[in-house]
This record gives sequence, C-alpha cells and structure tokens, in this order.
Amino acid sequence: MRIRHLPDRLINQIAAGEVIERPAAAIKELVENSIDAGATRIEIDIRDGGKTYMSVSDNGYGMIREELIACLDRHATSKLPDDDLLNISHLGFRGEALPSIASVSRMNISTRSSETGDAWQISHENGNKSDPQPSSHPNGTKIEIFDLFHATPARLKFLKSDRSENMAIKEMIMRLAMVTPHIGYTLIFDGNKNLHLIPETSDQRLAELIGRNFSDNSLPIRALRENITLEGRISLPTFNKANSISQYLFVNGRAVKDRLLLGALKGAYSDVLARDRYPAAVLFLTLPGEDVDVNVHPAKAEVRFREAAHIRGLLVSTIRHALLEHGGRSGASINLNSPVFTANNQNETDRAIFQKLPHVVNYTQPSKHYYSSAPALAEKARPDYRPFYNEPSARPEAQVSETPKNDYPLGAARAQIHENYIISQTEDGMIIIDQHAAHERLVYEKFKTQINSRTIETQGLLTPEIVELDNFRAEELISRKDKLAAYGLEIDTFGQNAIAVSGIPALLGQRTDIKQLLLDMSDEISETEESEKLEERLLEILATRACHGSVRSGRRLNAEEMNYLLRDMERTPLSGQCNHGRPTYIKLSLSEIEKLFKRR
Ligand code: ADP
Ligand code: MG
Repeated sequence: MRIRHLPDRLINQIAAGEVIERPAAAIKELVENSIDAGATRIEIDIRDGGKTYMSVSDNGYGMIREELIACLDRHATSKLPDDDLLNISHLGFRGEALPSIASVSRMNISTRSSETGDAWQISHENGNKSDPQPSSHPNGTKIEIFDLFHATPARLKFLKSDRSENMAIKEMIMRLAMVTPHIGYTLIFDGNKNLHLIPETSDQRLAELIGRNFSDNSLPIRALRENITLEGRISLPTFNKANSISQYLFVNGRAVKDRLLLGALKGAYSDVLARDRYPAAVLFLTLPGEDVDVNVHPAKAEVRFREAAHIRGLLVSTIRHALLEHGGRSGASINLNSPVFTANNQNETDRAIFQKLPHVVNYTQPSKHYYSSAPALAEKARPDYRPFYNEPSARPEAQVSETPKNDYPLGAARAQIHENYIISQTEDGMIIIDQHAAHERLVYEKFKTQINSRTIETQGLLTPEIVELDNFRAEELISRKDKLAAYGLEIDTFGQNAIAVSGIPALLGQRTDIKQLLLDMSDEISETEESEKLEERLLEILATRACHGSVRSGRRLNAEEMNYLLRDMERTPLSGQCNHGRPTYIKLSLSEIEKLFKRR
C-alpha cells in the first residue's frame, strides 16, 4: 500500500459524511446560504422526505457567472474576505456545503445576480459540472437537489421514514426562522404548504413558532455582562417537556445544539424540575466574535467559548434569578442549598457515619424467591381491598386495621412520613418505600400487562376533548391512531390543528391532563423512531400521567392503604425500581441499623 492523494469527488463525499448526515442537514446549509445572501423570502420545497427532491429558492443577491462556476468547488467561499477566522460575519465560511451536497446527489443551480442582472444555470452530476447556460431565473437563487444519497446507498439506508425526515427538516427551519424574523419562510411537503411565515417581529415569530402556550407560560430574560448579552424566554417549571426538543439555542445568530449551553440550562432548573423533565427555552447569546470559536464542528452545531465557565455562570444565574423572582411573587421559595446534616452532627465521627450511609444502605432488587412467593402473598390480600390509586374520592376513611404479620417480604406498614415515605417493619429490619415512585411503577406494570394482553380498558369521554396542537404534531399523532388505540387512547382529527380525544386509558383516571398527555406523546414520537424504545417511553408517559392526580407524594395514606400498596408491590414483577431506574424502596437490616448505632 502506498499513500495516495484522494480524488476530489471522494474528498467531497467524505466531507459530506460529516456535514450532510440527512436531508435536514442539507436544507440547513442551503437556507443558511440564502440568509447569508441577504434574502427576505425563502421557499423550501420537499418531496418524499427529501429523498427524491428538495429545493431552496431565495430572493437574495444571487451570483455572477464566475461565482456560479466557483461555488461548487471545495473551499470556495465569498464569506472570508480577509482570511480572519475570528471575525466571521456570515453563517457559512467553510466553503464545503455545496460541493459536499453535490457529491452525493444531482444538483441544479439557477441564479440571477442583482449586480449584473444576468441569470445563469448550472448542473452537477457524478462529479461533473456542466458549463453555465443562460437562464430566465428571476432575482435570487434556486438550488435543487435530486436523489440525495442515491450514490451512497449505505447512507440512504440510515434515513428514517419520510415523516421523520420531514419533521427534522421542519425543526431545522423553525430554528433558523427564530433568529431571522425579518425573513418570510414557506415550507412545502409533497405539494402541501406546511409552514408559512411572513416577516414579523422577534416576539411575534416566537409566539408563532412555539405557540401561545409557551408565550403564556414563560418568562422573558435579559442579562448584560461586559460585552455579552443573553436574552430570550424560558418556561416556567410547570411547563415542561419529555425531552429537550423545545430548547432553542442561538449563539451570534447561529442555531446551535451546544452541550455546554444545554447543560447550563438543565443545571439552572435542577432545583425546580425532575431530572427526566426538560424546560422549554429560546436563548439568544451574543458575544464578540473573538470570544467564540464556531469552527469546531463540521455542521457548526457546536461552538467553543473562550471563557466557558463564565458563559455557563451567566446562563445559570440569569435563569435562576428569573425563576426565583417569579417564584417569589407567587410565594413559593425553596432553599435547596441547605446542607443536609447540619443540625446535630457537628462531631466528625458522626459525620463520617452519615456520609457512609449510602454504602450501608442495601438497594434491594427483587429476588427470585420474591417472585415465586408472590402468588401466595396475593391470596393473603383481603379481597375487599380495592385499588385506591385512581379514585381519590373512593378512598376508605381512616380506620384501625389489625396489624398485618411480619412475614410479608415488604413487611407491615407502621407509618407514613413527609406524606410520601412509608416506613415498614420487616422480619429482620425495616424498609422505606417511596410511595410516589412505587405507585408509578405499579401503574407502569399494569399498563404493560394490559397492553401486552390486549385487554387495555378505555374510558370513553362524555364529550370528546378537543386539543389544539400545531398541525405537524396533530398529523403525526393521527398517523399513529391505531397504535395509540392499542394504548387505550382514542383520537381523531378535528380540523387542521386539533385532535378530538374520545377515550383515554381507564387506568389514567378522571383528572388526567389530556393535553399534556398528547404533547408528551407527540414529543416522544417525534424523537423516537418506531421501536420497542418508543413503546417503553409511551408506557412511561402513561404511567407518569396516571400518577399525577393520584397517590403521589403529598397524599396521606391510612394503614390499610399503605399495606395494600405493599402487597400490590409484592405481586408486581420489577416493582423494586421506578421507571427511571431509581429504587422504589430501600431496605435497612437490623444488623445495619445496629452498625449505625455502633452496637456492633
Ligand atoms: P459557504 O457558505 O461556507 O461559503 P457553500 O458551499 O455553502 O460555502 O457556498 C459556497 C458559496 O456559494 C458561498 O460562499 C456563496 O458565495 C455562494 N452561494 C451559495 N448559495 C448561495 C445563495 N443562495 N445565494 C448567493 N450565493 C450563494
Ligand atoms: Mg454555506
């Protein structure tokens, strides 16, 4: 083997591997070029998820003949006039998007230069470009891409369904449109207009794209530190999502998915949001070009800050401050920074013991023995105990019950503390049960059993609930109508942007927030391809929803209810951890307790 210089076509295909991983990535590059060309109108036309055809046309300043010839060459760009990588004023600068896309597709470019008024067109196929031909193209540029990835079947195979690719394209357009409210956008999928945005103000654009719901449930933020500005809107903790899809971040007008910024956003909410929930946010960060390196990621999705810690600090403190101020107004404020063991444990040895506690605690997993004994235990449960989870009103009044014997694996409930933890005495120690987590697990397992055995009970609604969603989400959900029916959720189209819900899984109970349920499901469907993972996530969403408005932390239980919960856990496989892998109960044996008290 000898070292050889690779041919241009192969070099471009290699670059395409990084820059153009799916149709949405190509669209990003083309639309960014249109933005860079000063366009005020951009139209995007997609067929078959971008697999057979995509085009982007703009009314920007176009290219002259020589530029049209050069633009398909590698590292040819009009955007680095003085070779200064620290002073980048355009979205593009690498000069590799067009040659990369062209190397994995067939491409036509038509353009009229506003400078000369001449229009030309060129085409590119199999590594060869045609000579420019005179054209009658109006002002601006239109780039058409045919049969993306047909020359690279491996890449083609990795593409998802047309619907998923369309979703990704729409996401991309939304991100770009958020920072360019002065530009009008039209997005067409297979001949149908999906998005139409007229030039407007930034606030109008955000409301249009993320929805009134977000505007109503978010706070504006604005901070200025030295020469850095941070502005945007962040959601109230109560307006949260199942994933990070509604987090839109921009650095110097560039849409990024930067890990540092996403991490800072998560960190800012860590006190007020469960770990598996995500805030919605739109953040615009503006800083001097020399303080941020945008040339660290081929698709320019990540950036590197010169003073990363500083940026992170600015984000976290600005967001926390805004949340606190808001929380202060409604009277809620929590100090989660207080050290846990400050009261009586100033003595160093005491401290050491308490710090060791997590090692002593035995995060019990259900054992084999545990399963096999389950049916027998089930029989012991009193037949007149009814599950109380979803019928808060039917909760039996507190009554003195005979103390169950200690020979149940999860023991006999003795007390409930802090309205969420059940303390139970077992034969050889004690167990602390997280009632909320346990309940979530039980409902999850019940859903799973019902769904697997196709015996899911649907509770019909007297009048269908109409839920408004953006039309893409609505379509997406409707296309899975049958699948959702298998989960007990009965939906139908209702006009353009809405869904009528006529039935919900009976396990969910009356007080379900149906809109939130649909939003979570559509978030998940758009992120996860059809697979077992999706089923698992849908189940989790159902279980989480089922728990809101039933036995969760904050509900006081009487002895019977507590013991019923324990017996139910014993009957239910995998009830030892909640859906997110946290334990639902913790076991402390007598000998461990004695160790803690130095009795041993
Ligand atoms: P980059 O954007 O990094 O410069 P590209 O390969 O995306 O690299 O584009 C190469 C060049 O082609 C650009 O620098 C620009 O001069 C020209 N170009 C591409 N698209 C357009 C467009 N829509 N309007 C005007 N010029 C364009
Ligand atoms: Mg470009």
